[in-house]
Amino acid sequence: MLRAFPMQGRWETGAGEPLPSVDPATGETIVVIGTPDASEVDAAIRHADRVRVSSGWSTLEPHRRAARLHAIASAIEQRIDHFARQQMLDNGKAWKECKAQAASAVATFRYFAAVCETAAGDLNPPRGRYLSLTVREPYGVVAAITPWNSPLTMEAQKVAPALAAGNAVVLKPSELTPLCALALAEACESAGLPPGLLTVLPGTGSSVGSALLTHPLVRMLSFTGGTATGRALAVVAAQRLLPIALELGGKSPQIVFDDADLDAAEKGVLDGIFEGMGQSCVAGSRLFVQRGVHDELVQRLVRRASSLRVGPPQAEDTDLGPLVSHAHREHVERHVRGALDEGGAIATGGRRPEGETWARGAYYLPTIITGLDNRARACRQEIFGPVLCVIPFDDEREVIAQANDSDYGLACGIWTSDFPRAWRIAAAIQAGTVWINTYKQLSIAAPFGGYKDSGLGREKGPGGLELYRQSKSIYLATPDEH
Ligand code: NDP
Repeated sequence: MLRAFPMQGRWETGAGEPLPSVDPATGETIVVIGTPDASEVDAAIRHADRVRVSSGWSTLEPHRRAARLHAIASAIEQRIDHFARQQMLDNGKAWKECKAQAASAVATFRYFAAVCETAAGDLNPPRGRYLSLTVREPYGVVAAITPWNSPLTMEAQKVAPALAAGNAVVLKPSELTPLCALALAEACESAGLPPGLLTVLPGTGSSVGSALLTHPLVRMLSFTGGTATGRALAVVAAQRLLPIALELGGKSPQIVFDDADLDAAEKGVLDGIFEGMGQSCVAGSRLFVQRGVHDELVQRLVRRASSLRVGPPQAEDTDLGPLVSHAHREHVERHVRGALDEGGAIATGGRRPEGETWARGAYYLPTIITGLDNRARACRQEIFGPVLCVIPFDDEREVIAQANDSDYGLACGIWTSDFPRAWRIAAAIQAGTVWINTYKQLSIAAPFGGYKDSGLGREKGPGGLELYRQSKSIYLATPDEH
């Protein structure tokens, strides 16, 4: 039986090609989901635009919209295990990580409720006999397109601020992970959001995704995914003059100096690359280690990486689940083979785990590669898997140049006890987020996004709301003095 999705304010199975959702831990189909055909995508967007107007959502006072967002947060909170389970089944991430991401989705809705309720317009300085105000208004229908690696986080991060700003949202989740978006639509419905304000259209990028991008009633696109896809979408958006926010890939450096607290660096580097099986845009996949501690840190990392428990995501003691799909595992394996061809050496991992427990799932061992330099393809291309390349360095100037020698600029980690040096490097690094003596600390209150090929625009933080609004300046004549 086909699973339905919310379209035109009703749950429908659609006339498009059905989409199997596969559990990467077993290779089994969990559920087959209906998808819309082209005419249904068109009707769904038109309906979303009508509901936005007829429900009064766009013009509702901010504190009333905020109350609805709080209700959505509570609805997710009440079903938190259900949400975590949908992601775990769809992308194979370990239960504890899914639980944490479900909790962060709750926090995201609460945060944007607060931002929405407190955001003010501007009273501009007068330059004549008038009052000048700037107000912010929603775009109308916003399209959100999300990837498979962290649907719980990504979808909340787009839907919450876009709704808070007064838009209707049409969300297309990755074809590999549609379940979290459907759970979000259920939560929105039970929280009393007018049906149709959040539409979820499962389907492929080439069918549903591109139909969203070219629809005349879609007035803004928020995309998270790979750089090649983002670039292709930006070309189409440019033709339409469509505002677009892009959160794209990364190849983030971690830099460890001789004077670093090695215990902390070891943990930060390990979690920074292997958490979520390296399927994270901010994965610290290039490790630069100063020569004096290079061998010791590599030894420590190898010991810790080889003791990480890879296994079924639902098991309490599992550290790392499978990769998102068997096809993605092959992609990671191709990169590892390429690294060996370029002269790299496997320090640990570099293969699938063997045995009955792992036979059917898309499992892969955490992998550390040495012997490459920063020009190797494995150090330049995003592998998006549990693969860490380690490169020794001698001095600060050299490591800054190497860290910045990348098409990407999403994040960077710096490990040192010399704070002036940490600040110098933080200032010199071309990346949207820099962590000093920590890694992957992410706060909904801080803007997030990339330099260079890692993206355009910033999500999160108070500005996360502004992404989904446009400004209007109003001048009101004031009477002359007599
Ligand atoms: P993709 O770019 O392949 O896909 C992302 C989304 O775009 C999916 O929903 C996909 O649909 C859709 N899509 C693909 N082609 C088109 C098209 N022509 N028109 C419209 N939509 C399209 O990325 P992945 O899903 O493989 O995700 C991994 C990537 O995401 C990595 O590069 C990672 O770095 C990046 N990412 C960036 C983050 C950030 O915040 N900077 C956060 C998380 C991930 P379909 O599922 O059918 O392919």
